[in-house]
Amino acid sequence: MTIDLTKALFHPGQNYPFSGEVEIPPQEIHGDTIRFDAARLEGTLFSADDAIFLSGTLQTTAHGECAVCLSPVDVPMNIPFEETFRKTAAAEGEESEDFTYEGKTLVTDDMATTLILLNLPMRFVCAAGCAASAHLTEWDEEHTVWAEESEDEAEKQQPGTYRPFENLKEILEKGENL
Ligand SMILES: [Zn+2]
Repeated sequence: MTIDLTKALFHPGQNYPFSGEVEIPPQEIHGDTIRFDAARLEGTLFSADDAIFLSGTLQTTAHGECAVCLSPVDVPMNIPFEETFRKTAAAEGEESEDFTYEGKTLVTDDMATTLILLNLPMRFVCAAGCAASAHLTEWDEEHTVWAEESEDEAEKQQPGTYRPFENLKEILEKGENL
């Protein structure tokens, strides 16, 4: 995605909205290939002293494999950002984490990929549905009351009660037969 800076450079300090999509190439991470939906960028930018200041959000979904059971795992990503772009010439030879732009055009692709890599989870593990990962979940005394053993009659009867570990017993039993 490219952004035309003509207006922003002509009116320093004034905010201009931008939005668009960036194709994110698949990334090899620890030998696994992570794929991404096109990243949606939205925000505003302004220019000051030949630098361009962007702020906004990046949204995408990362598609990987569960590190434990190899099932597909989708991780939604919603990343707020504030980044500075400097003219290519000015940034040369400088140790800087800023991105660069040339002329009156700013390309957001490097920034989008960098933001995603910085915010990826350390490893992909599918949540409650993963029998294998249930074994690895730290035991939590407070929440290990089986629904049918609950002393609270009202809670037992209430159909909509949220019981995050409701299926854990079944999952563990299944896991032992693997
Ligand atoms: Zn899994």
